Amino acid sequence: MSKKELTLGIDIGGTTTTFGFVDIDGNILKESQFMTQAEDHVTAYLPRLFDAIDEAMAELEEGVVIKGIGMGAPNANYFRGTVENPPNLKWGGVVNLVELMQKKYKIPTVITNDANAAALGELRFGAARNMKNFILITLGTGLGSGIVVNGDVVYGHSGFAGEMGHLIVNYDGRLCGDGRRGCLEAYVSVTGIRRTVSKLLADSLVGSELRDVSQSELTGELITQAALKGDKIALEAFEYTGHILGQKLADTVLITSPEAIILFGGLANAKDLIFEPTLRHMEQSLFGPFKGTVKLMMSELQHRNAAVLGASGLIWHELEKQNAA
Ligand SMILES: [Zn+2]
Repeated sequence: MSKKELTLGIDIGGTTTTFGFVDIDGNILKESQFMTQAEDHVTAYLPRLFDAIDEAMAELEEGVVIKGIGMGAPNANYFRGTVENPPNLKWGGVVNLVELMQKKYKIPTVITNDANAAALGELRFGAARNMKNFILITLGTGLGSGIVVNGDVVYGHSGFAGEMGHLIVNYDGRLCGDGRRGCLEAYVSVTGIRRTVSKLLADSLVGSELRDVSQSELTGELITQAALKGDKIALEAFEYTGHILGQKLADTVLITSPEAIILFGGLANAKDLIFEPTLRHMEQSLFGPFKGTVKLMMSELQHRNAAVLGASGLIWHELEKQNAA
């Protein structure tokens, strides 16, 4: 009897590290998480990661084989296997995480940023099964993206390709966290729509329940709830956000001609409030031959452990590529 094959998917976030053992069909057999403690150097972080993995591994049924490790992490470089100066982890410069993991576990290991991993999760286990060309966009605190062309993630020459969050939508626009002006994610993200609501409230006298909410307490959920009740400011904020996203998606379609664009993350939970204006403005802005060719879809991993499935999808995909070679 052949042994049950699993991969280990690890997602390293600034707040928590989550990992799980996942079979080829996307079933998570065992998962666990612990606090990342972002202020720690990597030499303090790694023993905690190893301990947590070893503990979980010991609880797996006998006879399973771990085929490889996939990791999603901020500022991760697929080619070099590194995590490079992520703003939300104080690990100290450039860390070759793939090398460190392989030294310990001696199995194939691969890393990329969380949005690219999410795209591979969607490809193997979610809305993009059977697609060869699509774009996954994560709408959280920022805007991340993974671009799949001809069945593989585009890493580019540097390994950092597919950073749609920092496409410019307005050269004199809002300041982005990277110090540049007018990046897409300064508008289209949970942070972005909060800024839009604040600006709309400041610029008008229209009544809104959001006037009673302080800037620090304003969340994507509150804006969504207000919009669902017909709040004019909240509705206008979604329209504005969808307008900017739709136009930039229309630009991006010209480059890779995706079959679908899949939205994931906090702001995608607003469903039609964000999907409708985004699709309408994308269609309005699309170059003729592309009109009606692109589906705008909701992630199918939205309410599952997408981060672990993404990291696991990354290594399953890599193992398949190696077998094909
Ligand atoms: Zn930026």
